Amino acid sequence: MKSIQDIYKIGKGPSSSHTMGPQRAAAIFREEHPDAEQYRVVLYGSLAKTGIGHGTDRVLRDTFAPIPTEVVFAKEDPADLKHPNTLDFFAVENGVESPAMRVQSVGGGDIVIEGRNQDTDLRDDVYPENSFAEIAQFCKWREIRIWEFVELNEGPEIWDFLAKVWKTMRWAIADGLHTSGILPGGLNLERKAKYLYEQATINQIVQLKETRTICAYAFAVSEQNADNGNIVTAPTCGSCGVVPAVLRYMQEYYKFSDEEILHALATAGIIGNLIKQNASISGAECGCQAEIGAACSMAAAALCELKGMNLEQIEYAAEIALEHHLGLTCDPICGLVQIPCIERNAVAAMRAMNCFNLAYFLYDTRSISFDMVVKTMYQTGVNIAKAFRETSEGGLARLYRRNRQ
Ligand code: SF4
Repeated sequence: MKSIQDIYKIGKGPSSSHTMGPQRAAAIFREEHPDAEQYRVVLYGSLAKTGIGHGTDRVLRDTFAPIPTEVVFAKEDPADLKHPNTLDFFAVENGVESPAMRVQSVGGGDIVIEGRNQDTDLRDDVYPENSFAEIAQFCKWREIRIWEFVELNEGPEIWDFLAKVWKTMRWAIADGLHTSGILPGGLNLERKAKYLYEQATINQIVQLKETRTICAYAFAVSEQNADNGNIVTAPTCGSCGVVPAVLRYMQEYYKFSDEEILHALATAGIIGNLIKQNASISGAECGCQAEIGAACSMAAAALCELKGMNLEQIEYAAEIALEHHLGLTCDPICGLVQIPCIERNAVAAMRAMNCFNLAYFLYDTRSISFDMVVKTMYQTGVNIAKAFRETSEGGLARLYRRNRQ
């Protein structure tokens, strides 16, 4: 399994697969064709369907600027398309167009360049274990916690990396809480984090305060993402608000140290990595269960780590968080990462709190393993109709358009 650095990527929103991945691919292609007079990029699958809403064309033109770049949204996919987020890059040099470099944007900002021996973007495996069962067995044998297992495999430098991740997450919350106005893209959607936070601070009932504060934090990060702000994929841009929302709340109200938060992030990173390795974190591949479901699972595990809960409790919380997102579709309105995405982050953050509370008491009654639910998520995902996998052709996206016509 790869480093957890592949799960947490610091960058600009709104979409890890539609902006971060294509941006990385364009930078590589530009480096390989520095003398091009013109670039042409053809987008297929979900990128063609929702690329405009996500700003894929803008990111590509910005990366190739000042060289003129034509972005084509293909009406039909080639028969040999291997991934729903695929792009072909061409460069015109001395009037002649180069052969295509075909790239898959596989989720979480990662890319795969077809036909190359090794992925340009992904790191080598750093963990010999590939399932929760294997990790749990190792941790029990060595009598260590998951964050110690992470340090053992990644080295102590992982803490500097996670400290940067945590700092970026906190900034995203702070920036989001201080910003108001309308989000870009044409939906006329007003930012709500600031308002929610004000409502949280005036309320004296503890439960309401908790709900509203966590929701405000999740909205803050997700709104920053929708506004092209700096965020951390956890595990994707669309689901970037869940993990920071619960961790920030726990630190603020229960005074956990930064060190404890980093341990929780390490635990969450392992959960995200296992989902990525054994299923998918791509909405275009497996629907929103792969993004928001994965984020909720990571957040639930992180909460258990903070509270010093045992391996079974961590596994149970991560498992139920994913299980109860099974089948969740991806149908962003107008291809923007706004409706339903922003609210969905807040709901998933609250659900993570529920999962962690359930796991506290019920972990020894469970009959489904985390590994089993990850496999189930993948099988469910590939069987979700294409219209509900980030194409904006089904669900809310379709009815919303109809109602406006
Ligand atoms: S609906 Fe879910 S998977 Fe789809 S773009 Fe929004 S957050 Fe991502």
